[in-house]
Amino acid sequence: MLGLLGGGQLGRMFIMAAQSMGYRVTVLDPAEGNPSSSVANRHLHADYLDADALGELASTCAGVTTEFENVPAESLRILAKHCVVSPAANSVAVAQDRILEKNFLAANGLGVVPYAVIQNSHELHKSLNLDEASPRKRPELFPGLFPGILKVSRFGYDGKGQVRVKNAIELDHALSGMNRTACVLEKLLSLEREVSVIVSRGFDGEVNTFPVSENQHRNGILDVSIVPARVSGTVVQKAREIAVRVAEKLDYRGVLCVEFFVLADGRLLVNEIAPRPHNSGHYTIDACVTSQFEQQVRILCGLSLGSTAMHGAAVMVNLLGDLWQRGEPEWEQLQRHPNVKLHLYGKLDARPGRKMGHYTVIAETTEAALQLALEIKQSLESQHRAAI
Ligand code: ADP
Ligand code: MG
Repeated sequence: MLGLLGGGQLGRMFIMAAQSMGYRVTVLDPAEGNPSSSVANRHLHADYLDADALGELASTCAGVTTEFENVPAESLRILAKHCVVSPAANSVAVAQDRILEKNFLAANGLGVVPYAVIQNSHELHKSLNLDEASPRKRPELFPGLFPGILKVSRFGYDGKGQVRVKNAIELDHALSGMNRTACVLEKLLSLEREVSVIVSRGFDGEVNTFPVSENQHRNGILDVSIVPARVSGTVVQKAREIAVRVAEKLDYRGVLCVEFFVLADGRLLVNEIAPRPHNSGHYTIDACVTSQFEQQVRILCGLSLGSTAMHGAAVMVNLLGDLWQRGEPEWEQLQRHPNVKLHLYGKLDARPGRKMGHYTVIAETTEAALQLALEIKQSLESQHRAAI
């Protein structure tokens, strides 16, 4: 039996991979009716720190992993006393906190976007002299970081918890809108592209990477992934090398996603890391010898890493709840193509912006895959538009 913290779609796909390899999976997730619930062998509905639930997992599972970035690191620490845990609490603690994450990357000489940590914004507010009648001399705050993006340090995702700010006054306003919680201010860069690498590292230190994915976002949410990324061989090699370095410096055991910004001069900066399989790696299910989820199972179970070789080019498109506003989309227009694979996550409530599923197009070239992927996307969107 394997244990899984979190019951979202990443968990569902992990469970499916584990079951097809002959394992059974128990999920610990406080919520009911999540994507994992219809496939899990067993479901513990309790808080992630619930002592009885953790005890139950520890005594019945040989290994425990997570699909949820914000699982308390403490849960993993407790479980690690009794069974194999991948990834480790310390790695997850770094990845789930932007301040720790940025400081870790910068301290290890890995290029990051220029940033400043804002722990105590009351001080900042005071130094702005906003409450005084004549704002005589204001210190120049955060030189070189405006225009910037303010990001909450914890619990942000899919562009949530982020505000663009042009100057210190806007920054102060944004901080107050975030209840003055700890944040990171980043310089807003003009990005040539965004790419990501899924890196796998086993308990014996064996490491490999999946092909580099090029990611396009819409409204802060991943929209389309194109693989292999349309970047130079040098960028591909550098991205893979940096991803391995991140995993090694973290002493990471498991599947890790490293998101990069590619600048016009070819420089690669690490944007953020996710201590789990990632949406930008969903293409691996249909396009690689081993999927990112099978890799997660393999590492957890102490097996050697699977091959990350790719069958062809692939384009993955996310399906958001917006498409469901007038009911379930008409899938025939997608499924009549022999090289297109549909994955739905079994979510009953289709809210706008919610990830309901994805599809992957496999073709010989990225151009061909992209063309068909966009045709299908357009047809799904126009069907949706026609309905409203
Ligand atoms: P999330 O946790 O929501 O994925 P990210 O930090 O990855 O947060 O930001 C989401 C997206 O916003 C990025 O993929 C990128 O498109 C854009 N973005 C974030 N930071 C910057 C930046 N410093 N400069 C330019 N674009 C950015
Ligand atoms: Mg991101």
